[in-house]
Amino acid sequence: MLTADKTLMSTYNGSQFIGFAACFPRVLPRWLYARLFCPAKSNGNAAIPAPAGLRKVEAVLVESGIPEEDVEIVHPMRIRKAVDSDTRVVGVTTSDPLGKGPASSTFSSLIRREPYTAYYFRELLTHEALRSDDLRVIVGGPGVWQLADPNVRASLGIDCIVEGEAELVAPRLFRDALEGAPLPGTVSGGTVPMEKVPVMRGPTINGTVEVSRGCGRGCEFCNPNMRRVRHVPLEKILDEIRLNIPHSPKVTLHAEDVLRYKADGIVPDKDEVLRLFSEATKLTDDIGISHIALSSALSRPDLEEELADLLKCLGTGAHIYAQTGIETGSSRLVSRHMKGKAKPFSPEDWPEVVRESMKLLSGNGWVACGTLVLGMPGEQTDDVLRTLELVRDLRRYKSLIVPLFFVPLGEMTESDFFTPEGMLPEHWMLLAECIDHDFHWSGILMDELFSQNRMSGAKSRLMKFAAWYMQRRLKPYMETMKEGVSPLEGVAGLEEPPHAFEIGRQKAKA
Ligand code: SF4
Repeated sequence: MLTADKTLMSTYNGSQFIGFAACFPRVLPRWLYARLFCPAKSNGNAAIPAPAGLRKVEAVLVESGIPEEDVEIVHPMRIRKAVDSDTRVVGVTTSDPLGKGPASSTFSSLIRREPYTAYYFRELLTHEALRSDDLRVIVGGPGVWQLADPNVRASLGIDCIVEGEAELVAPRLFRDALEGAPLPGTVSGGTVPMEKVPVMRGPTINGTVEVSRGCGRGCEFCNPNMRRVRHVPLEKILDEIRLNIPHSPKVTLHAEDVLRYKADGIVPDKDEVLRLFSEATKLTDDIGISHIALSSALSRPDLEEELADLLKCLGTGAHIYAQTGIETGSSRLVSRHMKGKAKPFSPEDWPEVVRESMKLLSGNGWVACGTLVLGMPGEQTDDVLRTLELVRDLRRYKSLIVPLFFVPLGEMTESDFFTPEGMLPEHWMLLAECIDHDFHWSGILMDELFSQNRMSGAKSRLMKFAAWYMQRRLKPYMETMKEGVSPLEGVAGLEEPPHAFEIGRQKAKA
């Protein structure tokens, strides 16, 4: 059985940005959150659609000779029904099992309440149906670094975690688990050559289809697996799009930088990217993009306009949404921790690259959702002021900006997590600026999204109400933050809901 927690099984009403809601602290009642953000979609026990990572594991297991009928991706709501005496191995994918990822650790440390990602992961792993001694639990996915502590794994009943990419190691591990052989606590999956990555066998969340793996820009705080860039052959991509279309016309092309599909170097290969999109648009006209790099966009300015034209976003009011990394407005920090970020431009040019790229994108119907990293090691007041200046300049461009606390990953695991206690007055001002920016543009974007009738009237009204309510609740704090003062002083954290992790720990102890 393959599965994931509710936050990873949701389509977020077709909008990947709404997926950030999974990293929010638990402030909404459970039923309301689940109804708004994680509505269950399954066919019997099977999760349809399913996360792309699970689909890849499903495909390698079947290709390795495990009978197709013995492998199933199950929705977490159906675990009780799906697990029976024949179930031997449970494979789980996770992005943020303990809520320590950049987005959730930022939001939850500010509101001082557990994020939904951690809550639902524990709810899944501590489900009584998974507590049988006959079951082996293998966990993979980008969040497994949070499960490095063997005690945490034991408390959650995890037998083995897979770090990195799973396709090469999964068949052997699952076979061993089926045969009752001992499993290592940790396995490194490394980087997998594209010819070893199979075509998926079923539809994915929001029609996610991988076009490239890796990045190659080499930011110090990034996952080491990002170092080697590999591209998926066009025919395989088109096969996976065809497979998704009967379930949903929406397809999301995924890569760390979709603009560098098949690029031989750092500058996008315009012909290859246009070929990818024009072939894809022959199959569906609802194509989304997961991530792009701002420097790639600026190094081929004509490409964004041509893509917008191809995707019918020029002058139509429709948008191309893409996530991107702004990280900082300080060229000093770019030179220190992420020299490759600005390429083919120089690190000194970074703030200007961001301004010009955002201008170019918003002028061509794109909406970039840019992340910032607050509290990078060595960050000083002047660096934060440069970022604040940059965010103020970006206010005129339709975009979203998500400030995230530094999390020690990649080559920086020796550094500390950044927390609200370490915030300078300028960090609070920057945070307020980002919140202002996002309320301004998200209101406009929500209106546009709802007017395209992609959500029921009741649901869109509820989401607008939630945004209005949050804005109202935050207003007094915003005034304080704009003055550079922490609004948290003297504010107690919200009372935590029953701690499923504790329940898991006690069960493991017993
Ligand atoms: S640009 Fe993004 S994906 Fe690439 S190395 Fe830097 S942080 Fe990682």
